[in-house]
Amino acid sequence: MTSVTAEGLRVAVIGAGIAGLATAVGLVRSGAAVTVFEEAPTVRSGGSGLTVFAGGLRALDSLGLGARFRALTDGDVRLLRGGQRAPDGRWLARIPADAVAEMRVVDRGDFHRLLVDALGSAASVRTGTRVDSADPDGAVRWTTADGLPQEETFDLVVGADGMRSQVRTAFSDDPGRRYAGYGAWRGITRGPVDLGGEAGETWGMRTRFGIAPLADGRVYWFAVATMPEVAVFHDETAVLEGLFGTWHDPIPEILSATHPTAVHRLPILELAGHLSSYVRGRIVLVGDAAHAMTPNLGQGGGQGLEDAAQLCAGLADVLTYLPPQRAPVDGVATALASYDALRRPRSQRIARLSRLIGDVAHLPGPRLTRVRDAVLDLTPEPALRRQIRQVQEWDGPGVHVR
Ligand SMILES: Cc1cc2nc3c(=O)[nH]c(=O)nc-3n(C[C@H](O)[C@H](O)[C@H](O)COP(=O)(O)OP(=O)(O)OC[C@H]3O[C@@H](n4cnc5c(N)ncnc54)[C@H](O)[C@@H]3O)c2cc1C
Repeated sequence: MTSVTAEGLRVAVIGAGIAGLATAVGLVRSGAAVTVFEEAPTVRSGGSGLTVFAGGLRALDSLGLGARFRALTDGDVRLLRGGQRAPDGRWLARIPADAVAEMRVVDRGDFHRLLVDALGSAASVRTGTRVDSADPDGAVRWTTADGLPQEETFDLVVGADGMRSQVRTAFSDDPGRRYAGYGAWRGITRGPVDLGGEAGETWGMRTRFGIAPLADGRVYWFAVATMPEVAVFHDETAVLEGLFGTWHDPIPEILSATHPTAVHRLPILELAGHLSSYVRGRIVLVGDAAHAMTPNLGQGGGQGLEDAAQLCAGLADVLTYLPPQRAPVDGVATALASYDALRRPRSQRIARLSRLIGDVAHLPGPRLTRVRDAVLDLTPEPALRRQIRQVQEWDGPGVHVR
């Protein structure tokens, strides 16, 4: 399908979020000529903290970014206990420490800078450029600031433009988005907070609070509550205090240690269904564009990294074995088919599980909440460990980029 030359694969990456940047880094290191389109005026991260589990780390290793990421997230903070608690602090379920031994928590701003630095000037990055459409034949269209329509054709178009993906509209079964029924606040404390080695989530009735320590002792936290999709609060801090101010320590301290301007709320959306393929012609989807999921397993970003690693590994093989003369190669189509076969089942399974966890966490009424807590309490450790492993661990394609 695609005519690849020894001069390199010409790739457009639409979107400079985690998935797009990671893919761009992997592709340029394999010799592809990459152009990144980003609608924002600068490449920047949204949100506050990000939890990355074993699969995401494997992906970063494969992309040649593992050592830098570990250096960024290595710290003295040690987690002794994790799991789920009730608002009074009672442990409902403990996650075995070894099951999350590789978990890392990173400030999203720092992670974005790492990706941008790794890309350096190896790719052409067109910020302030919103892509209007992409076609399966590789054509990418956008409009200049002066209103002039532009078009360029690439060997491959990577749709990494997130949950609201414009590129995804080229897929006839684009399911669109739906509201999960709850909204989430996120924040990072101004300075270190002593967690006593304990972290995880606390589940109330249709409310949750999550705690994750950054390497420097600051705490990334999130708070979730059932609410209408469009909820307007005049004082977000007061709402948070009302919902979580009487919960176990150190939740009240974490809230008061966070500057109000560092707290952001958003409605939780996910893809309303599942795509039947992540590939159409020369277009391939990665990250939230392919499988935007609820954040209940902390896996959206990790899945995007796994996508990037898998895609780049498959294409690296194609680029490595290109003949020296300019020649059409159909290896790209094979690499894309293999990417779809390997990535779609896993990412869609995790999205389904993540949704289920949200549904259970937000069951209505005190009776169902008590039943939920009792079930959590009774879940045997081996079953929990198995479940965690299945979600978090990923063998990955091995180290492909150095
Ligand atoms: C509350 C919450 C907590 C979360 N916690 C975690 C966690 O702990 N761990 C984890 O792994 N994941 C977590 N996630 C999920 C994670 O944030 C996302 O999965 C991840 O950021 C998606 O990255 P992406 O690069 O695919 O998309 P995005 O981050 O959405 O990036 C898309 C980029 O494309 C650009 N763009 C969009 N449209 C266009 C266009 N038409 N033309 C050009 N550019 C365009 C955007 O400006 C943006 O820069 C969480 C999500 C939420 C909401």
